[in-house]
Amino acid sequence: MVALSIKNLVKVYANGIEALKGIDLDVAEGDFFALLGPNGAGKTTMIGIITSLVTKTAGNVRVFGHDIDTDLNAAKACIGVVPQEINLNTFDRVSNIVINQAGFYGMTVREAKPRAQQVLEQLKLWDRRNDIARNLSGGMKRRLMIARALVHSPKLLILDEPTAGVDIEIRRTMWRFLRDLNESGTTIILTTHYLEEAENLCRHVAIIDDGEVIQNHPMDDFLRTLKQQNFIINTRDRVTEVPTLDGCLVHQLKDFELEIVVQRDHDLNNVFAELSDAGIQVISMRNKTNRLEELFFNLTDRSDPGVPPETADQPGTEA
Ligand code: ADP
Repeated sequence: MVALSIKNLVKVYANGIEALKGIDLDVAEGDFFALLGPNGAGKTTMIGIITSLVTKTAGNVRVFGHDIDTDLNAAKACIGVVPQEINLNTFDRVSNIVINQAGFYGMTVREAKPRAQQVLEQLKLWDRRNDIARNLSGGMKRRLMIARALVHSPKLLILDEPTAGVDIEIRRTMWRFLRDLNESGTTIILTTHYLEEAENLCRHVAIIDDGEVIQNHPMDDFLRTLKQQNFIINTRDRVTEVPTLDGCLVHQLKDFELEIVVQRDHDLNNVFAELSDAGIQVISMRNKTNRLEELFFNLTDRSDPGVPPETADQPGTEA
């Protein structure tokens, strides 16, 4: 079954901006789908239309077969959405926020209470259930938004930049949670600027640029299209002479560090053998850049490929 089917979706805002120029996209049931694109590409507009916050200009959207034009409530019941901005009623208690949300989906308080407990436990917020949301840390607020989005057990969870501004520790905890959720059958669509996040979590990737889908592939196929990889190697001894390696470019970065540019089909064993012949012992090796980031950068021809994960963290967002 197709979880989400989008056909020729167009959005022209009142100011004349054509935010979506005829998007076609299918997301398979059970998929973990990355939606990438630079700022202004149209991702939030698309999510807004799917979740009926934004009216479309033209096109069709079906969620698990339910057309949003003719069967909106059924479509909405299938979707949980975690928006980019924190939009909690921060004066309300944690448990109330989740229980109230269940009410929008026709659950009685009696039905909602045990389900709220379940999702708050899953998101490690049960012991904070009586706190006022305002008193939660940034990371906890984000987890609360996920709990709220899941209370009606949606089959499709859409997260718009869920880990923006959260530190690495929280991000990894959230990744584990989302992976488990996906393995238990929930289809997940994620927009992210953290390209490392897409590469780590998602099985399919679509790139939107300027209102159009410019790439749409299984993640593995997509990554395979990368022609070269840049490796940074650290050496045991100081490198006094830059080695010449067959079919590779080599630059010296520091006394004990080399950058090696390797073509995709090149056998890395040969690289190591040649380094060894040159008397260079490798003690560690890593990718210079995130491959997806590099690819994205090349595809969209932008000077800013998004905020790199290592520099984007805002420290101290979780208590
Ligand atoms: P993304 O989420 O990929 O950053 P958006 O969907 O927010 O992209 O924006 C797509 C385009 O639509 C941008 O040019 C943006 O300025 C424009 N846009 C978004 N929301 C509105 C709005 N409410 N009114 C007018 N233009 C908008």
